[in-house]
Formats: sequence, structure tokens, C-alpha cells
Amino acid sequence: MSPSQARNLRLDLSRRHLLKAFGASAVTAFGLSFTAPLLAAPVFATYPFQLGIASGDPSSDGFVIWTRLAPDPLAMGYGMPAAAVEVEWEIGADSRFGDVVRRGTAIARPELGHAVHVEVDGLQPNRPYWYRFIAGRERSATGRAMTLAGVGQQLESVRFAVAGCQQYEQGYYTAHRHLAAQQPDFVFCYGDYIYENRSTRVWNSSAGPVENPRQHFGDELYSIDDYRRRYSQYKMDVDLQAAHAAAPWFVTWDDHEIDNNWVDLNEQDGTPAPIFALRRQMAMQAYYEHMPLRASSLPVGPAMQLYRRAVLGNLLDLNLLDTRQYRTDQVCGDRWGVPCDETRRAAEVLGERQHAWLANNLRRSDTKWKTLAQQIMVMDLDRDPGDGVTENLDSWAGYRQPRERLLKMVRELGQASTVILTGDEHQNFAGELHLDGKNPGDTPIATEFVATSISSGGDGVDQRSDTSAIQEVNPQLKFHNAQRGYVMCDVSHERWLTDFITLDQVSTRGGTARSRKKLVVEPGNPVLQPA
Ligand code: FE
Ligand code: CA
Repeated sequence: MSPSQARNLRLDLSRRHLLKAFGASAVTAFGLSFTAPLLAAPVFATYPFQLGIASGDPSSDGFVIWTRLAPDPLAMGYGMPAAAVEVEWEIGADSRFGDVVRRGTAIARPELGHAVHVEVDGLQPNRPYWYRFIAGRERSATGRAMTLAGVGQQLESVRFAVAGCQQYEQGYYTAHRHLAAQQPDFVFCYGDYIYENRSTRVWNSSAGPVENPRQHFGDELYSIDDYRRRYSQYKMDVDLQAAHAAAPWFVTWDDHEIDNNWVDLNEQDGTPAPIFALRRQMAMQAYYEHMPLRASSLPVGPAMQLYRRAVLGNLLDLNLLDTRQYRTDQVCGDRWGVPCDETRRAAEVLGERQHAWLANNLRRSDTKWKTLAQQIMVMDLDRDPGDGVTENLDSWAGYRQPRERLLKMVRELGQASTVILTGDEHQNFAGELHLDGKNPGDTPIATEFVATSISSGGDGVDQRSDTSAIQEVNPQLKFHNAQRGYVMCDVSHERWLTDFITLDQVSTRGGTARSRKKLVVEPGNPVLQPA
């Protein structure tokens, strides 16, 4: 038995256990009826796969497939009985399932909001597969997943998308529809998958009041049911469902999956740590329930193992980081501001363990490219076009000492072939990284691509009125754009090509996507070049 099989056994209650645990009357009382065998053939009043399907965390022999049964997604109890239900799954070698290569039965548990996470293994490396779920007489949509190339295996190229920050109220997910059509090998999500704030119909922009195109359901999120309902609302969006069905995702969180700008056990309203820990625990559980994560990321109390690594052949080393859970509090505030002396104090962003883990990964990496897939901007970007200095103090800029430690490590171990992928800013940036960003006379240590948002911030503008002035005081900044969209990375042994895809608008459906800017980096030379 493989370690992953042993893990599955520990996590999946057997049918025999279920038969002992539940009686038929307890189940039919909730409006579902079952034929023998018990719980194996539920009848649903409405379609149970309304939240779609997903795959994630691919390896060279498999991936996770996900769904969640929710016939009435926004209702308390989401239309399911308080009982476990069997869900069948199938993996096809083709999209029509003419050749089903793996199949099995998983159990959707009420403890996990009737979510299902199946860790499929035994598949061939570096090829597409298709998957679907069946519950009772109902069948889910079909998703496409890809396995990774084996570690060290010759891999010519990989093409993947970088996306995140999808505030539902502020725009449509047209970017996801375009991303899906491009069929990337995988998607890296840098977080802000949901936003925790209450419904806001109107907000006050600098140009006056603006009505959001869509509204959140309900108030600020505190309970597990609140978080579940918010994920349900987001996941009912068909463009988002299309992006999940097109490719496996490597997901990480940023702040809004839990609370704005949280770090460690600190949040913005000064709630006592033991109380915030309870909210954090519920938010983490709901996150796990809705993401295609492996059992190794199952929350344990108010903690969750989210940083992890994937190696793609001999081409790409993907280090997925968690810049929230182990971070020291933002001492100079968590907004844009003048950095106080305290930003230079001894502090942590990754935490000692994650930093050591990353160093170890880089040290033994023999892929052509190394990637740090993370959330907050590393580039030392001054947002004040005048003589003063304004920085985003919730990003690495608010942590000078840990930032320097990170960049020194990348300089020593990254073989000048490290690309850092970032989100959070709701704007596109491309830049070169130096120990002191204000004095980039030396050779850059690495390259950073900051991907804008799917919808957060509304339509945006191509160039802000201060864009050229900001570029003038930040010579390390090579590209800026403030529209919505995502980033596509096309990586080979010869070059890393980043394509910034932007949308003309997200405030109504059907925005037009275009390739706004293409930039290239060569291995061993982290200087940004025009494509
Ligand atoms: Fe965001
Ligand atoms: Ca954020």
C-alpha cells in the first residue's frame, strides 16, 4: 500500500462504517430517499453539482479531483441531509470516457459541507485526463486535468496561468472564461478567491458613487455557514467553473479568504487572538472544503499546511508560499504609507521553518527555472512620484529585513533563474529585483511578475495618471497597467515569456481580452526584455 493510499484509508469511512452509523429513517426524514444499499443512491430534488468541479495539486501520477454536493447552495443546510452520501468518480483517458482508466467511490461528509476530495494516483505523467462525478442519478460536468512531467524528466515547455483577486461584487469573471479557452497546463491562484466583506451595493469612487454590477449575499463572514455560503455564491459563477474545468489549479490564499490584511493571529479590528483563532479555524475549514487540496492540507485546529512544492520535469521548480500564516504583525500599519524605522526590525514573513524549507528546495533544485509563487509584492516600489516615499506596508516592503534575507537567499541559490509570481495589488507590474530597489545599479537578482485581479477594483485603466512619474522614480519597474485580467507564462529552456492579458471592462458581461504586454527573461539573466 502506498503512503497516499494509507492516508486515504484513514480519511475515508468505509461503507460498512456508514451502514452502522446511519439508519434509513434518519436519512429519509430530510427529504432524500435511498434504495438499498443505504446512502448509495440518493435522489435530489434539484441538481447537486451546482458548484461545479475542480482539479488541483497535480503530480506526475495524479491529481486531486473535487466537487461539493449542494442542491440548494445558498440555503442553510444547502439542500443536503445531515448524513454522509456516496459519490462515484471516473477518470477517462479521453473526454468521452470511452476508456475509463480509474474509478471509485468517495464519501461526501456533512462535517466537510459534503465536499469530496479524491487523490487520484496511478496515472501517466505529463498528459491530460478527464474526470466527472456521479451521485444517485445525477452526473457532474466533465473537467480536464493534466499530470505533471516526472521529476528530472525532459520537459520542453509548460504554459500556465496566474490568477486571483476575484471580488464578486466589483466585476464579472470574463477573464476566467478567456483563461479557460487558452487551456493552460495549470493555474496558480495567488488568493483572494473570495472576499469576506458584507454586501455593498454602492461605493464612493473618486468620480462619485458607483453601483457594483453584482452583490454579495449576506453580511461579513464569521461562521462556517457564512463562509460556505460565500464560496457557494462565487462557485456558482459559470466563468469561474469553466476555468476550473479547463485545468488543475495550485491554490494558495491571501488575506480575504479569512479577513482583510490578517497575519498570524492578528486582524484589523484588534479582536483578541484566541477569538480570531476561532474565526480563522472556520475560514480555513471552508477554504479546504472548497479547494482541490490534498489531505495533507486538511486544517488541524486554526492551522493549515498550505506551502508546498511541485517539480515539473527538468524545467520548473514551483514553490508555493504562504505569506500570511507565519508572518509577524505589520508594525507600521497595513496600508500604503511612509515606511517607519520599524520596517527594518527583525521580523518574519515566511517564518523560520518555511524559509528553511524554501532554502532547502532551492539548494537541491536542478530544474532550469525556479519559481516563488506567492502573494505580496517583493519589488521595492515607491508609489510617491515626488520626493517622499510611500510603500504598501502589507507587502514585503513593510518587512525590510526579511525581504533582504529572502533576496540574499535567492541571489545565492537561485542561479539567476528565479521568477517571483505575485498577486494582491490589483494591478499588473513587471520588475527586476535588487537588494536595494532604490539603487538598481547592480545586476538584478530575480524577476517579478505581479498579476492584476480577475475583477477586484472594477474596470480600472490602462495607465494611471501617475504611471509614468512612478516609473521615473522606480527604474526597476519595467511595466505597469491597472486593468483587470490574468497572466500567462510560457516557459521553455531558452526563455520565460510572460503575457499580460487585460480586459477592456468587467462591469458588464462580455468584456474583450487582449494581450497587453509580452516580456521575456532568459535563464541566468534576470533582465526583462521585450518579447
Ligand atoms: Fe485582492
Ligand atoms: Ca489581498
